[in-house]
Amino acid sequence: MNTLCSEGFLRFFNAMQVDSVSTDDILNLIPDALINIADEIHLGKFEVRVELPSVSQGLKEYNTLRVLYDAPEGHEIMSHSRIIKSQDKGTFCFAAFPLKGHSFSSEDKTSLDFLIKTIHSLVVKAILAEQLNRRQFTDYMTGLPNNAFFMKFSNNLSMRGSLNNYTLLFSNLKNFNYINQQYGSQVGDVVLKEYSLKLLGFYGKDEVIARFGGDNFVALIKNEHVEDYLNLIALININAATGNQIRTLAIHSRSGVYPIPSPSTNIRDAISCANASLAYAKKVADSSCIWFREEILERINHDREIISYFRTALTHKEYVVYYQPKVSLLNNRIEGCEALVRWKRGDRILPPGMFVPVLEDEGLICDLDFYVLERVCEDIRNWQRNGITPARISVNFSKHNLRNPGLIDDVIAVISKYRINPDYLEIELTESATSDDFEALTKFVDELKNHGIRTSIDDFGTGYSSLSLIKDLNVDVIKIDKSFIDNITHPDSKDLIILSSILSMVTGLGNDVIAEGCETVEQARILLELGCHMIQGYLFDKPLPHDEFTDKLAGDYVYDIKL
Ligand code: C2E
Ligand code: MG
Ligand code: MG
Repeated sequence: MNTLCSEGFLRFFNAMQVDSVSTDDILNLIPDALINIADEIHLGKFEVRVELPSVSQGLKEYNTLRVLYDAPEGHEIMSHSRIIKSQDKGTFCFAAFPLKGHSFSSEDKTSLDFLIKTIHSLVVKAILAEQLNRRQFTDYMTGLPNNAFFMKFSNNLSMRGSLNNYTLLFSNLKNFNYINQQYGSQVGDVVLKEYSLKLLGFYGKDEVIARFGGDNFVALIKNEHVEDYLNLIALININAATGNQIRTLAIHSRSGVYPIPSPSTNIRDAISCANASLAYAKKVADSSCIWFREEILERINHDREIISYFRTALTHKEYVVYYQPKVSLLNNRIEGCEALVRWKRGDRILPPGMFVPVLEDEGLICDLDFYVLERVCEDIRNWQRNGITPARISVNFSKHNLRNPGLIDDVIAVISKYRINPDYLEIELTESATSDDFEALTKFVDELKNHGIRTSIDDFGTGYSSLSLIKDLNVDVIKIDKSFIDNITHPDSKDLIILSSILSMVTGLGNDVIAEGCETVEQARILLELGCHMIQGYLFDKPLPHDEFTDKLAGDYVYDIKL
């Protein structure tokens, strides 16, 4: 009977039937399976050396010598060997030694070759399955577990009822964008890989740190281990080649921390809570680590509501414009005003602080700014139609508008639609941090000037580049921030000295100046003494609803304030 179809071979095949994706499992099965055919082919010893350089994206090298069969009777030294190369430059070296006192017949060798091919294909199949499995659950670039693995891991914990022994941390690198911009994305990738290696070295067998895309990392760490993890990620130094220099980059991170309250907590909810805490750490608290509190979720839901309802609120004209007078201390009359938006939600009037920053983050603010500009132009036209001389109105423009290449055309289109004299308008802009912004800002200011529209720098003194700003920018008005005015009445106030130098510098350069947030007669008196006679503040009026302001405008109102 031909050995290939022998009973022994059939038993060998049966013994190798297993539903496993582990290469080790397959290799472990072979010795017992070989017993079925060893005698038939006079096998004394059988071994394989497997060398695979890149089993899973370089994460683990596979290099092992396995003795698959070793007969108690011993074996001869001359082997029948076969080397099979794999596509990724790996090798399988099989060596079969005849039983002591035997040599392999040509029939034995044919059977051995068949056996070797069979074992090789079984092992390769297992390696491939293992690779695929690993790839499905591993982040390709960093080698960390991925989102899918994280979900599987947390499901297992949930099923074991131990999820509440863990804390979920959603972290994000603080300065990663800067690294990408400054040194290029290749260095960024190296940083992510090295960073991930440090994380891989940290977590224990029953914990996981997964990469959730970009520079986001989500971890399930045992409660008693959380402080150690936070300490680790507070600062990780990475050595990276930048140009021809090796630099040590200090990588700080920010985290939202959510201790899982119950074994049955839904893991997606837990991720949302940690992520909400991270968003809070970034935007509100500017902190490295925020532990979850209920109010954080309320705030995040509130922000989401603002964003999702924004377009409807615009169409329903729920945003209303209030006007805060700008008053001259020389005659107590209204010389202009600032348009300040409010959100009328049912019977509540929400101040801009509750929705403008959220709209800025979402890039929706520009639509609101243009909406306010339209309402202002409409009001100016209506006042004129009713025989009321309008005041010059300043409109706040977020610096997000500077990204719009057709910005000036859009502004002019609105003014033309209402046939407004541009002299009635002023655009308030804030100082900018980057030079790109500054270029766009300069261009916009010049274009507005060419169309006869004045500009002002809002909150002057609180930004980054105050001095160069007024020197190089063609703005008409500087609005001194309230924070400089708050303390000027204190006898030894440093702000008084700063304010007086700002005022002499600004007026020396030929700009008009206005002080924001003046609340008391004493403050107004000092401002006047220092040469600033335009005031916007509660001393005269808070921002007024349209009709109240219209009455003051129509009646040529004079404030009854004596300095
Ligand atoms: P801002 O442009 O600096 O406006 C001045 C803010 O100071 C206004 O707050 C005003 O009510 C307040 N204020 C004026 N005088 C006093 C005072 O004497 N005491 C105190 N405590 N506060 C005073 P408001 O209306 O809450 O606006 C806050 C900020 O919201 C504005 O600061 C501006 O940055 C933003 N904002 C308002 N409307 C718009 C808009 O239509 N578009 C954009 N992009 N931002 C807007
Ligand atoms: Mg303003
Ligand atoms: Mg201001």
